[in-house]
Amino acid sequence: MQPLSRKSEHFTDSVIRRMTRISLQYNAINLAQGFPDFDPPKAMTDRLAEVSAEGPHQYPITMGAPNFRQALARKCGRFMGRTLNPETEMVVTIGSTEAMVDTIFALTNPGDKIAMFSPYFENYRAQAIFADCEPVFIPLVPPTFDFDPNVIEDAFKTGVKAILICNPSNPSGKVFTYDELKTIADLCIKYDVYAIMDEVYEHIVYEGHKHTYMNSLPGMWERTVSCSSLSKTYSVTGWRLGYAIAPQPIMDRIKQFHDFNAVGAPSPLMEAAIVGLDMPDSYYEEFGAHYAHMKKLFTDGLTSMGMEYTDPQGAYFVLANIGQYLKPGQSDVDFCVEMTQKVGVACVPGSSFFKENVNDIVRVHFAKKDETLYEALNRLSDIKKKMG
Ligand code: GLN
Repeated sequence: MQPLSRKSEHFTDSVIRRMTRISLQYNAINLAQGFPDFDPPKAMTDRLAEVSAEGPHQYPITMGAPNFRQALARKCGRFMGRTLNPETEMVVTIGSTEAMVDTIFALTNPGDKIAMFSPYFENYRAQAIFADCEPVFIPLVPPTFDFDPNVIEDAFKTGVKAILICNPSNPSGKVFTYDELKTIADLCIKYDVYAIMDEVYEHIVYEGHKHTYMNSLPGMWERTVSCSSLSKTYSVTGWRLGYAIAPQPIMDRIKQFHDFNAVGAPSPLMEAAIVGLDMPDSYYEEFGAHYAHMKKLFTDGLTSMGMEYTDPQGAYFVLANIGQYLKPGQSDVDFCVEMTQKVGVACVPGSSFFKENVNDIVRVHFAKKDETLYEALNRLSDIKKKMG
């Protein structure tokens, strides 16, 4: 038989999503794949019940139901501080994952380089390989996750097509400041590089930090694609409603890839989600306060058990140091499987996120009910004994 895809030999399955399957196998608390165990806003689930009776249940307009796109334009326009055209500047996708893939295909040709920071969300490397692009990694240096603009400039000098930035950042929790984004933006303009933004954590930003949309910086609207989703903001990761926002010349190309790749996002879920998009500012304030509460509860617990971890500025992950619990020669992947089984808490091995050789870090998320977090902390409290 003929050989199968060569590209597929350059990446595995997602370790994040593999850890969910392992967590289920051992009936563990899943602090690996980041998703909430609390309900979406009641207005959305009530509306979903109505929609189940009323429809729509058939194919949506390929680019997204018009009323959903209008609501999305209102919501995103309000936060981005610009009027968005729902017909020409947006497309609704199957989660932000599809938005990112369509965007990479729309912007690149085989052999192009895509710059991305390390640590990075593991989808990005695989997605670059789908499009026959070469990922070029720029270190975000722990513990502050600062970057050296000269390293970006050196990479851009070698002919980079796009830079992919997760802001707020998964897994580091970094929220890029305006000045940092301006530094990157100026380099994008100088070297004619596109910016692909993953902004799914845009509304999960902790005190003292502020989310800035790259496309709002001078000269950046023309060369930025903002990918995001409803998953995190409305606690509906299973609805798979994502989107991309870009100027029309880029959006026209993104739509071509979406059209043949996905046909459309789920029509009943778009209809039910409109009430979410139309929620007032108070929703986002309460949502942010809830995340600040979960972060405090969880990180206070980690502190009291003497765990070393990163304090996120945004998103809902901490990177915790597990060096003291590793057996000699044990990989972080094996450690995480063993920990899921013996401690009953699943997390993601740090090696999934770093270009650098890293083996003593795990990513843990805290988007969970208080009782789930207390139980996880309780299980973690004697990790040393259980893993011994
Ligand atoms: N963004 C979430 C995480 O990093 C979910 C990943 C996924 O499976 N889409 O865990």
